[in-house]
Amino acid sequence: MRPRTCALLAFAECLIVASSCASNAQEVDILLRGGSVIDGSGSAAVVADVAIHNEKIVHVGDAADVEAAWTIDCTGLIICPGFIDLHNHSDRQVVRPATRAAVNYVTQGCTTIVTGNCGSGPVDTGAYYEKIDQHGAGPNVAHLIPQGSLRERVLGSGNIKPTDEQLTEMLQLSEKAMQDGAWGMSTGLIYVPSSYAPTEELIAIAKIVAAHGGIYASHIRGEGTVLLKSVDEALRIGREAQLPVHVSHFKSSGRDAWGLVREAARMIDQARKAGRTVTADQYPYIASSTSLGATLLPSSARAGGTKELIKRLDDPDTGSQLRTLISNAIVKRDNGNAVRIARYSPNKKWVGRSLTDIATSENRPAVEIAEEIIRGGGASVVNFSMSEDDVRHIMAIDWVATASDGRAYLPGSDRPHPRNYGTFPRKLAYYSIQEKVLSLEAAVRSMTSLPAEILRMTDRGLIQEGLAADITVFNVKELSDTATFDNPHQYAEGIQHVFVNGTPVVHNGKVTGALPGKALRFEGHKISPR
Ligand SMILES: [Zn+2]
Repeated sequence: MRPRTCALLAFAECLIVASSCASNAQEVDILLRGGSVIDGSGSAAVVADVAIHNEKIVHVGDAADVEAAWTIDCTGLIICPGFIDLHNHSDRQVVRPATRAAVNYVTQGCTTIVTGNCGSGPVDTGAYYEKIDQHGAGPNVAHLIPQGSLRERVLGSGNIKPTDEQLTEMLQLSEKAMQDGAWGMSTGLIYVPSSYAPTEELIAIAKIVAAHGGIYASHIRGEGTVLLKSVDEALRIGREAQLPVHVSHFKSSGRDAWGLVREAARMIDQARKAGRTVTADQYPYIASSTSLGATLLPSSARAGGTKELIKRLDDPDTGSQLRTLISNAIVKRDNGNAVRIARYSPNKKWVGRSLTDIATSENRPAVEIAEEIIRGGGASVVNFSMSEDDVRHIMAIDWVATASDGRAYLPGSDRPHPRNYGTFPRKLAYYSIQEKVLSLEAAVRSMTSLPAEILRMTDRGLIQEGLAADITVFNVKELSDTATFDNPHQYAEGIQHVFVNGTPVVHNGKVTGALPGKALRFEGHKISPR
């Protein structure tokens, strides 16, 4: 199916007709007629037509005077800006042929993804953007400087203090990335080697980013009982480097930390009142997902990677200390019930099951199962670590954006977190329409103009004349995230049409396979600081 091609052919014919009969009508590529427009600003829906021409939104309102090459009836449907996923991990997938269409994202209504998150991703932003421009992608891609990968490139993955020359090299690479159009930097301070950077080192890099108008986005040092201290560090970086701070996947993780995220939100409110720009994002689930190692062991125990970790496990002294740590962490996570294996290639039978469940059926202690997995190269896990009340409280805050923390996937035998397939429809259909945690307009804003504002992206995030034609059209009655923890490889339903730069990537609920997504380059120097 190639609707875009048809549209262009029809458009050419239309031009001939138009010029011969000297019509006064405005001619456009595509007209979305009669939908309810939720423009992304938080304003109430209004019935209007939206016209697309040359990749841009050219008209919003009554289109009686508009002549379109292709008209799509949107009666009864919501027309809103395409969703911007501030926290995405498709750095590798979006440059691979099999996954660059990011089908599990465009089917959620996503038109832009932000990569380089949690401190991990390509360091050379320019080369990465060129690859995307060369082959295209389903959604647009904006990139952050990944501080962990940057540090690894200059210093390796050990716990090393940089020399003056090494620090200068990190700063120069950051300067180059910002000149190449990165939107800011990200850290992943529970991950090696991002975690080895002291605050001062992060401030030094953040100052380079600040000079270009970029943001500091952080997976902070801890999301459990150390949450407040960790948010405080992020705020300090923002104050001292003078740049906006963004807390990624904002949450209280672990029962002993529940409620702390509300206090952290109050700290952020205070900083905002004092004039600082501070924001956060959240995925609408009570489970998180990362590696088993990062779930059960502190980063100091994981230093140097799996090989070093196995050496420590083999050592009689450190081995028994590590087993105690693992055992305590399992007890804290509902005795292992809260931790489910998402992907573990050495033993696929364990995938989708909790540590407790595996331990019971194998008649072995859970700590032994965890150790076997760690020795086997580790697994990714889904961890039911959050309070539903906390999730709802944070979701209702007007500086909290929606973001998936997932990546482009092809359906497979692993059991990844359903956020990869369902984040945006779930927030709209379940939390907004069904549970009324926030209005539909506010929910749409949290995934459109708010993330654009956070990034200082001025040409997307609203249904407004002159802006890029990144548009999602959905059916409120059919909208649903169908991906579950047991059956995650399920595309969302109810997303009717999705346009990326004016080209349909989803039409009538079907993926077109088009790759109109571009590398989006930040032009910070053109924006006055706020
Ligand atoms: Zn993260």
